[in-house]
Amino acid sequence: KSKVLLKLQSEIEGSVVSYPKNMPIAIKRAKGSIIEDVDGNYFIDFFGGCGVLNVGHGNEYVLDYVKEQQTELIHALDFPTENKLTLIQLILKNLPVEIQDEYKVSFGGPTGSDAIEAAIKLAKIKTGRDGVIAFTGGYHGMSSGALAVTSDTFFRNKLTSLIPNVSFVPYSYCYRCPFNKNSNSCDFECVSHFEWILDTEHSGIVTPAAIILEPLQGEGGNIVPKEGYLERIVEVAHKHGIIVIFDEVQSGFFRTGRFLEFMHTNAVPDIITFSKGFGGIGFPISGLIYKKNIEAWKSADHIGTFRCNQVSIAAARGAFDFIEEYDIEKYTQLIGDYLIEKFRTLESQNPFIGDVRGKGMMIGIEFVKDKTTKEPFPEYLKKLRGECFRRGLLFEVGGHYKNVMRLTPPLITTQNIVDAAIEIIKEAIVVCMEEYLE
Ligand code: PMP
Repeated sequence: KSKVLLKLQSEIEGSVVSYPKNMPIAIKRAKGSIIEDVDGNYFIDFFGGCGVLNVGHGNEYVLDYVKEQQTELIHALDFPTENKLTLIQLILKNLPVEIQDEYKVSFGGPTGSDAIEAAIKLAKIKTGRDGVIAFTGGYHGMSSGALAVTSDTFFRNKLTSLIPNVSFVPYSYCYRCPFNKNSNSCDFECVSHFEWILDTEHSGIVTPAAIILEPLQGEGGNIVPKEGYLERIVEVAHKHGIIVIFDEVQSGFFRTGRFLEFMHTNAVPDIITFSKGFGGIGFPISGLIYKKNIEAWKSADHIGTFRCNQVSIAAARGAFDFIEEYDIEKYTQLIGDYLIEKFRTLESQNPFIGDVRGKGMMIGIEFVKDKTTKEPFPEYLKKLRGECFRRGLLFEVGGHYKNVMRLTPPLITTQNIVDAAIEIIKEAIVVCMEEYLE
């Protein structure tokens, strides 16, 4: 049945992701961390809707908020509702105490890309400048502004005109340092490079309105930047009066074991974009958390019909309450550390695992042909993904070279399920290795 639906989809629906032939799945239903396909097969979901299903598929606790809200009010444009204002208060309350009074919230529309557009626009209006600096490997979405600051040329280069004056600088990708440095002794060469770029007299660049980066790069391969990197980048940007946008669309909503990823650091951004996990169990929502001192919106400067769906907002409130009641923040840290430790052991025994990294339940495993040359091995990972699929495990593939196993399971995934997933990966690794080691 899955194959029939996939064939039909390819005939009648445009522009869908074409997953490899060795993982044919059409989904029927899902609960918690388990997906059932239309043929009655069960899968462990380590994809998690790409950072959306943080509290698990069909979470009953959140569903109660949704059911109550949908009989009351679904659409209210920008009018105040208790539902919406309660959510804003919850968002602010979850920021670090020392800075929570400095921020306000605006809603961006249903998708992450909407939030990125709003953030870039706000920075441009505030500074009266035009340019944006983004980072290699960064992913920010598919609308024109968001795409312009997304580094993967596969998406961008088919189009000749997106928003102008976007430049890219290297991200802190220590496993493959663009400056060939060792992270223990690099002296933050990437930050020095960034600093040099902003020295307009020498680099020739016009001071931009904003920089935009993911504090933990998602699609780029779940890359955790070097400790101290974000603080330094923010400091340099602020020296030049540049607005700092942290894109937390994927890393946010407790994914990395804190409400927002930047809360693991001392870096303080001017704008934070949010979406994905905020929708609780998959409802569309997005927006900005931004400093009051960069407020530049005047009435109706930035509007949109579907900015504040009341059911999405209720789902977000439900997810916040669920996370607090069951201390999912702590659990995410514990189960995330457990997973990383298991994969580090696997790394030490496996010739093709080059790097294991991540925080909380946002984990990246990078596959290479050779641990010394670090030549990417996307073919191996493609085969591995198929073997895991056959055994009942789903995950996403990403990274600068499409050689990173990206794990973003629901945060509520139990240890039994985590152990089952690890066993599947171990078994699949052995099966795939036999072919490549011959
Ligand atoms: N920013 C980041 C960091 C993302 O991971 C994504 C989606 N993968 C987006 C923005 C875009 O979100 P959407 O697909 O909802 O437009």
